[in-house]
Amino acid sequence: TKHFPVKRKGRELLTRSARTVHAVDDVSLELHRGRVTALVGESGSGKSTVARLLAQLYPLTAGEIRYAGEPSRAGRGRRFRAWCSKVQLIFQDPFASLNPVHTIRYHLTRALRIHGRAGRDRAELEQNLHALLTQVQLTPPERYIDAFPHELSGGQRQRVAIARALAADPAVLLADEPVSMLDVSIRLGVLNLLADLRERLRLAVLYITHDIASARYFADTTLVMYAGRMVEGGDSETVTQQPAHPYTRLLIASAPDPDRVIADGTEQQAPPGEPPSLITPPAGCRFHPRCPSAMERCRTTVPPRFDLPEDGHWAACWLYDGTESGAEGQA
Ligand code: SF4
Ligand code: MG
Repeated sequence: TKHFPVKRKGRELLTRSARTVHAVDDVSLELHRGRVTALVGESGSGKSTVARLLAQLYPLTAGEIRYAGEPSRAGRGRRFRAWCSKVQLIFQDPFASLNPVHTIRYHLTRALRIHGRAGRDRAELEQNLHALLTQVQLTPPERYIDAFPHELSGGQRQRVAIARALAADPAVLLADEPVSMLDVSIRLGVLNLLADLRERLRLAVLYITHDIASARYFADTTLVMYAGRMVEGGDSETVTQQPAHPYTRLLIASAPDPDRVIADGTEQQAPPGEPPSLITPPAGCRFHPRCPSAMERCRTTVPPRFDLPEDGHWAACWLYDGTESGAEGQA
């Protein structure tokens, strides 16, 4: 759970309930090595906040994060740094994440040094730099190593950002909308690179996107967020082919043909309607003001996760109450 305080505007007095942004509430997820998990939702649904929490850029308001069973701890100690190097974040904007006055060599050398992986001498450092560029398919490395960020294309810059994350020798890669700012024609190449790295380095990848069709293409598991809560999860094929939650259905209805989305660059449309304010989120199911199936209790009581017949598939929606497993769902 992550709540942010709201800054008061001028002299306006805020009531107690209007002082908090409920950015992420009761979200729970597991990442596994060698698997891609997609976190899907509209902008403002809290998915980037989840990534930043996992990378320990913010403290949690409530809850816990574990890596291989070990709880995260805030601070600056050695264990905190070791934990952080295992969990690396790639940002949406490769233009902003690289410093324009420094070469690729500078960025990657610095990352290797921070994580104690620069090697014993110049030759070893050079070898490690070349290995990183080769891993992200920037070959031959000599062509890229002394370039400045502006001399590279957006896709090449995102590859450098990925190489910089790999310099830490991570187990977990959090990729926050890694291709949404790139030209449509090069998105597939960057996604395929991430899929390839997941396989070769057995990375756990969290792929954050507003585009549910690309989740089906790229992720093993798909989780859907709405207004700071997780509303559905399961195998990507199941979630995208047999969506259960009315919000997931709405997202899919506004997605272009999932088989064509990446090839022809048709964009995901924003679904009709507006997500609610996270300062005063609706009571009960946060989707109820937009939901065509809303019932009385949806307005008052938060729906728990109900298990669905397909293995690992669940939805947080009262429509699935009364199923045998649903009766055991916890609030
Ligand atoms: Fe709609 Fe109710 Fe399900 Fe929420 S819990 S998605 S309002 S039916
Ligand atoms: Mg975001």
